[in-house]
Amino acid sequence: MSRLDRDTAGVVRSAARSRILGRLGGTGGVALACAMLAVGLILTVVAAGALADAQRREADERMDRHLEVVRTVLAGETYRRVELLGHLSAAVGTQTNLTAQDFEALTFRLSYRGLAGVSEVGFVVSADDAHVQAVQRAWRGRGVSDLTVRPVRADEHRFVVLTRSLDGLSTALGLDLAAASEPTGAMDTARRTGQVAASQAYVLLRDRMLPTSRQQISFILAAPVYAAGGTADAGLLRGWLLMGVRGSDFINNTLQPASQGVLNVTLTDVSVPGQERRIADVHAGAPLADARLHRETTLDAAGRRWKLEIQPTDRFASTGDDRLHLVVLGCGALASLLLAGLVLVLVTSRDRALARVEQATAALQADIEQRQEVEIRLRERERELEGFAAVAAHDLKSPLTVIMGYCELVEDRLADRSDQQVNTWLSRVRTGTRRMQHLIDDLLNYAAAGNGSLELAEVDLNKLVGDIVTERTSHLEHDRPHIESGRLPVVVADPDRLRQVLDNLIGNAIKYVRHGTAAQIDINAEQDGPMWRISVADHGIGISPDQRDAVFGAFNRARGSEGYPGTGLGLAICRRIVNHHGGEIRAEDNTGGGSRFVFTLPVAPDPAGQDPAVPGGENPALSASK
Ligand code: ADP
Repeated sequence: MSRLDRDTAGVVRSAARSRILGRLGGTGGVALACAMLAVGLILTVVAAGALADAQRREADERMDRHLEVVRTVLAGETYRRVELLGHLSAAVGTQTNLTAQDFEALTFRLSYRGLAGVSEVGFVVSADDAHVQAVQRAWRGRGVSDLTVRPVRADEHRFVVLTRSLDGLSTALGLDLAAASEPTGAMDTARRTGQVAASQAYVLLRDRMLPTSRQQISFILAAPVYAAGGTADAGLLRGWLLMGVRGSDFINNTLQPASQGVLNVTLTDVSVPGQERRIADVHAGAPLADARLHRETTLDAAGRRWKLEIQPTDRFASTGDDRLHLVVLGCGALASLLLAGLVLVLVTSRDRALARVEQATAALQADIEQRQEVEIRLRERERELEGFAAVAAHDLKSPLTVIMGYCELVEDRLADRSDQQVNTWLSRVRTGTRRMQHLIDDLLNYAAAGNGSLELAEVDLNKLVGDIVTERTSHLEHDRPHIESGRLPVVVADPDRLRQVLDNLIGNAIKYVRHGTAAQIDINAEQDGPMWRISVADHGIGISPDQRDAVFGAFNRARGSEGYPGTGLGLAICRRIVNHHGGEIRAEDNTGGGSRFVFTLPVAPDPAGQDPAVPGGENPALSASK
């Protein structure tokens, strides 16, 4: 397979590859982009779903924690008040003759206890209608000078005879708590159980004078006060110590750090089924619609059952966590879209590039096929021409031989008649015929030079050059050329054709000298890597640089060679022969004037493995002929 054929096959193969890839890319590109989009969306949805689940779980856990904390805080704060009131009632019980100053001293520290929501602490005594005035007198006598009891219609009055306000507002001093069922209920329970008891939720009697907007649902804690041992009335109930607690203030202030404003809290008294009463409803913000996050529990507080409900507000969600899965969903969908778009753009641009490659390959293939056709036609034409030239030249030679033969016959016949004119004509006929013979020989040589197989053999250049020089110069009587040659190597070449090359070059070097001067010629050879460089240099008329390449074309002659015989075929023959051997030939300037013709030949492989370098010294064949 020729190199051209191999190249063509390579191009065709890569074109086919491009076509297959292109087809795969074209059909697969959109599918690949769609698949990427689908996978991206599925992954995004799965990730967002998992995130939403995790967020839901986290919100549930947060609400559970909140409920636990709120319940603990609320129970703790309630217990603190109950316990304090219990201790206070025990302390009051130890006083044999409780006065306003004693009460003042006992309750003095309450202001500093940070009892959120507590409005007032008061001492309440029981009295029937018959003893109302006696009670007033007695307690005025104990230091409550401004006491004015205000009895209501009741079997048992419950007068507030001592008070300490903890909210700076007016007190319940002198009020008859029998006016409300809630405090009396709590006091009755306390008396019955001997424990601190909480009341039903209600608006404190002292608060009922306030504007409605400032009234709050409250409850009271009632602790029974028993006379301590060692006193005259030991073990008897002296009255009650009451603590008023405003529901919203209590919840708000105690739960503030626990709820952090993210919870709405509702506290309801559910002790009596069907008579639920709201104690406090603390609204920290807009409630979240998610009913799932609603939490409730119950706790026991001083004999009552309270229901605690918490609900997350919009601030519970304002951390942005609950929308994170939506953000992930949006970003993931966007990223998938972008990725799919990118893949589509890449694949389609790859398709376009492949299509362009395919077009270019098809054009290249067509070009190669066209060139192959042209080359084949040219080779055929060349063979035809060479055959034609060979046949024509050969056929032209026979008539010339006939002409020469008859010329000699005519000369012989006219030999005795010395007709100068006829002899001159005959001589011109012979010269012309010889020139034509030369031309035909050169044509035949030219046709044969680039074709046919080479008969390679070892050629001793020393001998070859010596023979040519002898042949060319032995008959010369004047202007014998001076030819120098170094010791030349043995090369492997077709001996006849190599002879033609050297004969042409040496012949030209002898011929193209200024008229009347003798030629001076140097013939040398040197190895240049894998090639021999053989040069024939002269000091003749030279060749102008612009014609040094043209002289190797058939029938081309350089300017200035008009007065010299020649056909213009010699150097063309040389180039064909040298090229046929795998070498090159060129003309250069010779230092000191004249031309130098250099041609290369591949170095013959040395069977003995010896260095095929040029032997030193002179050409023995040439020195012998000198
Ligand atoms: P020709 O038969 O004319 O010598 P060649 O092909 O041998 O044909 O040479 C082509 C032309 O190159 C010549 O006509 C001549 O002009 C020029 N030429 C060749 N050799 C030399 C040389 N040694 N010195 C000067 N000119 C040369």
